[in-house]
Amino acid sequence: MKLLFSVALGAASWSLTEHVMHRYLGHVFARNRNFFAVEHVRHHATTSYFAPAWKKGAAAAVVAAIVTPVASMIVGPRRGLAYTAGFVSTYLGYEWLHYRAHVAAPTNRYEAWLRKHHFYHHFHNPSVNHGVTSPIWDRVFGTYEEPDVIRVPARHAMPWLRDPETGKLDPRFAADYEIVDKRKPKAAA
Ligand SMILES: [Zn+2]
Ligand SMILES: [Zn+2]
Repeated sequence: MKLLFSVALGAASWSLTEHVMHRYLGHVFARNRNFFAVEHVRHHATTSYFAPAWKKGAAAAVVAAIVTPVASMIVGPRRGLAYTAGFVSTYLGYEWLHYRAHVAAPTNRYEAWLRKHHFYHHFHNPSVNHGVTSPIWDRVFGTYEEPDVIRVPARHAMPWLRDPETGKLDPRFAADYEIVDKRKPKAAA
């Protein structure tokens, strides 16, 4: 049970890190061009861009190499390792869910929620909704905004948003999304 608790604590730590890192390194202090901001600014500018997997793997390895001995010193090697396992596996889960949000249509209610929450951050207000996999920390720190209809600029439209036959917005997503063409006067940037 104690090991399971350590895993859960590691997972919760990642969840908080996901919010804090994205909010501060990715946006608030992005001008410093820290390691995260360089990739993240590019992800915002070209929404189909993701940092290469090797960089993410390297980041996870560095984090594991630092977190494991520190956690082991505090709670012992078994629980320290369990904590790291919880942290790193939820980090990888986040990477997977975020990537899928951009490239694949939602397959369940959670994925549908995640996409609206995240694309609101991308296309409406980048200073809110920093959590990708959960709204918890945005709610705690007052940076949560409930998305309504997401207006997606045509050049950033996720491929799954379009009906493959017509190339227009897939009617399945019409209640939640709009594709905004630049040529129209009310285009949202
Ligand atoms: Zn994104
Ligand atoms: Zn962002």
